[in-house]
Amino acid sequence: MDWSAISGITASIGAARDIAKGMSALRDSTLINERTSALLEQLLKAQEGLLSHNAALLQLQGEHFEAREKLRKLEEAGRERGRYSLFQLRPGQFAYRVNLVPQQSGADEPASTEPLHYVCQPCFDKGIKSVLTGTFMMGVPNGLVCPTCKTQVFD
Ligand SMILES: [Zn+2]
Repeated sequence: MDWSAISGITASIGAARDIAKGMSALRDSTLINERTSALLEQLLKAQEGLLSHNAALLQLQGEHFEAREKLRKLEEAGRERGRYSLFQLRPGQFAYRVNLVPQQSGADEPASTEPLHYVCQPCFDKGIKSVLTGTFMMGVPNGLVCPTCKTQVFD
């Protein structure tokens, strides 16, 4: 924020007020014209300062909105990350497994339909949620593969 713009606006308004003082008592048209011109000049300066200040304010509002959106996405990513735990499928074979929460006893809550699943560890560590899908050899399930990075995990 450019605070000098605000002090400039205040100075211009103050100068305009000083110029306007006693103008109604003036009888000399030349003096009235000079004071009116000086008054308008100060008011224009104040207006320019306000426009500049509003532009800076709009920019700040845009940056504030972007920062809030970024924070919201980070919080959402953190919540999503907390839903998974690193799991060893085989020695040296890792994936993140969803933490299935036992259904609360409340009868009015709908039962979770989310199935047990794994997400790719390298992708998830980069912030990409990629659910591993089954692979088959001659019709027999033989492992899991990441559809994003093609990493294979055998279980
Ligand atoms: Zn992956």
